[in-house]
Parts: sequence; structure tokens; C-alpha cells
Amino acid sequence: MNKIKMTTPLVEMDGDEMTRILWKMIKDELLLPFIDLKTEYYDLGLKYRNETDDKVTLDSAEATKKYGVAVKCATITPNAARMDEYDLKEMWKSPNGTIRAALDGTVFRTPIKVKGIEPCVKNWEKPITLARHAYGDVYKNTEIKIPCAGKAELVFTGDDGQKIRKTIHEFTGSGIIQGIHNTDKSITSFAKSCFAYALDTKQDLWFATKDTISKVYDHNFKDIFQEIYDSEFKDKFEEAGIEYFYTLIDDAVARIMRSKGGIIWACKNYDGDVMSDMVSSACGSLAMMTSVLVSPDGVYEYEAAHGTVQRHYYKHLAGEETSTNSVATIFAWTGALRKRGEIDNLPELMEFADKLEKATLGTIESGKMTKDLSLMTTLDNVTILNSQDFIKAIRQNFEAM
Ligand code: NAP
Ligand code: MG
Repeated sequence: MNKIKMTTPLVEMDGDEMTRILWKMIKDELLLPFIDLKTEYYDLGLKYRNETDDKVTLDSAEATKKYGVAVKCATITPNAARMDEYDLKEMWKSPNGTIRAALDGTVFRTPIKVKGIEPCVKNWEKPITLARHAYGDVYKNTEIKIPCAGKAELVFTGDDGQKIRKTIHEFTGSGIIQGIHNTDKSITSFAKSCFAYALDTKQDLWFATKDTISKVYDHNFKDIFQEIYDSEFKDKFEEAGIEYFYTLIDDAVARIMRSKGGIIWACKNYDGDVMSDMVSSACGSLAMMTSVLVSPDGVYEYEAAHGTVQRHYYKHLAGEETSTNSVATIFAWTGALRKRGEIDNLPELMEFADKLEKATLGTIESGKMTKDLSLMTTLDNVTILNSQDFIKAIRQNFEAM
């Protein structure tokens, strides 16, 4: 059989623990036998990040800017316990944070829908993609616990010498205050990534804030989105037959619950934090959630939404059998390969991605699945497979297709 050719390399970011084990299995069983796989490989496993003083992470982000498409395995974000476990020189930052900052991108998370794993919300016929603005607001706050009566003020001192001063509150006793911020630059990048991704996936885009209460802060988000839509995207949206819809956050929540899905929901940082957990838990599990980082100038990095599945990895190291779900990691690869095929005009590569996804979902629908899915499926006659056998079953199904 002739293998499918690629013209431009994918940026491949390897990772840690159980997902690193799955990564190799997926390549060996599902990709290398069928594709003349071209990748530029970066080892983001914690050991090598430590050896290179985390330079490898920055290099992989630069390569992503150069080539336009990356696929990433889950990676460890070091904490105190990892300092000892990996004998780290420093508590290196989260690779995802580093890459997101370098690409100035927004993360879009979408549940993978499959028969037998039904969302709790019955009318969600299509997946809801959640886009979270990952900068500022309460996540970069400054807080003071007010000890006694007194006046709290908000003061801005411009580099040009101007001063803006407002009273927050005249305290008569103890209390609390909080200062938060955002930048027009970050909101603009967020808006552009959202509009670009909506066009790319041909889905309506919803955005919501609380601008009736926050008449300056939230209103600024609304205005920036509207300006960018009107000046850069309105015509393209109309041509694609999709819609940009702005509403209040409480109205958006009510409408989402009654919707059929198939939309992109852009959220401010805090709303996105809360709502992404609601949408993902209503749809099954993190193991069935894909994630793609999109930069405002159209660079894509695909990954699974879950972590390195540490608990399973320790079982694997102890020689025990694992049943770790590889679906989201497979979909990270198919997403990246399809995008590469689209950019390089390689219909065979795009077809391969579609088929591999179909084979993966078909395997689950035929009753063969990993343990996590067996616990929530509505299907009868389920066979629980181990990590390796599940991937082998997908290969069999793929070859039969
Ligand atoms: P996790 O790896 O997502 O796993 C948490 C639990 O969720 C697992 O123990 C497992 O439950 C279940 N689970 C997650 N993915 C699964 C899969 N594919 N198949 C089956 N079950 C799955 O989160 P964590 O244990 O909190 O984090 C482990 C490491 O991942 C940390 O070092 C963290 O820094 C890193 N992390 C990385 C990313 C990323 O790179 N994008 C994201 C999040 C976390 P049971 O144990 O009950 O089976
Ligand atoms: Mg959260």
C-alpha cells in the first residue's frame, strides 16, 4: 500500500507519563503504517524541558509560528512534588501557558460526540465549543483586606502625567476591595481568534458579558468584539451563512441550555472557567474533550483537554494493565493532520483524518471501549479493553473501512 504523502511537517510536541505512552502507541498503530509522517519533533517531556532550561518549549512555539500547525501531548505542570520526582533545576512554568503566550492564542474546547455516551442535556444534538479568554480579570487581581473605616479609591497615573481618580467606597468598618484589569490588545486578539475559528468551523459565534451592570469594563469587551466584527468579519460571516450573536451572560446561559448546540460560545476568563466545566461534565468526560489553541493570525495547536493521567502511569510502571482512553489524543492528531491537509491542499490526508475519527467512534459504538467510558455508556454488551487493545481495535476497524 502506498503511504499518504505530506509536504510540510507538523510540529510534534511529545509529553509526559501515560499520555506519552499512548502517543507512541497511536503513532505506531494508527499513523505510521498509513502516512509518510513528516514531523518536526520537540520533546516537551519534563526531563528534557529541565535539561534545556525549558528552551525546548519556546523553540516548539516558534516552530509552530513558522509551520502553522502543531499537535501536542499532555505535559506535566511542575509543582513541589515534581521538583523532587524529576530533580528539577526550577519549577518550570506550564508549557501550555508558555505556548499560549507565545502564540497570543485562545483555547477552544469541544466535546467529542459518540452514540452511547449521551449528554445530560437532551437537546444538545451537536457539540458546544467553549472559548475562554485566558488573560486578566480576576485571575490577575490585586486585593486588599480593609482593616478599618476609611476611603478606598481607584487611581490611574498616566505616563503623560494625567491622573484619573474615583472613589470605590467610603468604609465605615472593615471590608474588602479588589482591583482587576484587562488590555485592549488582549481582548482584540481574543475576539479575532474567536471570529477566525467560527469561520474556520462554520459555526455561529456567541459572546456574552454583563455590560448592563459593568458599563465601562464589560462594555469595552462588547465594543471591541463589535468593532472587529463590523470591520473585518461581517461580510465573511454572511457569505459563510453564520451569525455573530451578542447577549447578556445570564441570557446566554439560559439559551445554551435550550439550544441544539453546534455553536462556539466565547466567554470572559471567569465565565469560561466555570462554564467549561459545566459543558464538559454534561457531555461525559475530559477524556472525550478536544482542545485547540488558535492564534489571531490563524496558527493552530491541537491537543487533548485532559492531563497526563498520572495515576494510570504509575499502574503502568508497576506492570499493571491500564485502560486509558486515547480518543482525545487521537483527535488531536486527526485535527492537526486535517488542518495540514487543508493548508497544503492534500485531500488524501484530510480524508485519512475523517476516516480515522470515524473508525475511532465506530469502535466505541460497536461496544469496544476503555473503562472510563464503560462506566457511563448507555450501550449494552460492552467489552472493556486495555489501553493497547483499544488502539488495536481502532486499527482493525480502520483497516476494515
Ligand atoms: P488528568 O491527567 O486529566 O487525570 C485526572 C483523572 O481523570 C485521572 O486520574 C482519570 O481518572 C481521569 N482521566 C483523565 N484523562 C483520562 C483518560 N484519557 N482516560 C481515562 N481516564 C482519564 O489530571 P491530573 O491527574 O490532575 O493531572 C496529571 C498531570 O497532568 C499533572 O502533572 C498536570 O500538571 C498535568 N496536566 C496537563 C494538562 C495539559 O498538558 N494540557 C492538562 C491538565 C493537567 P481515574 O484515575 O479515576 O481513572
Ligand atoms: Mg476551572
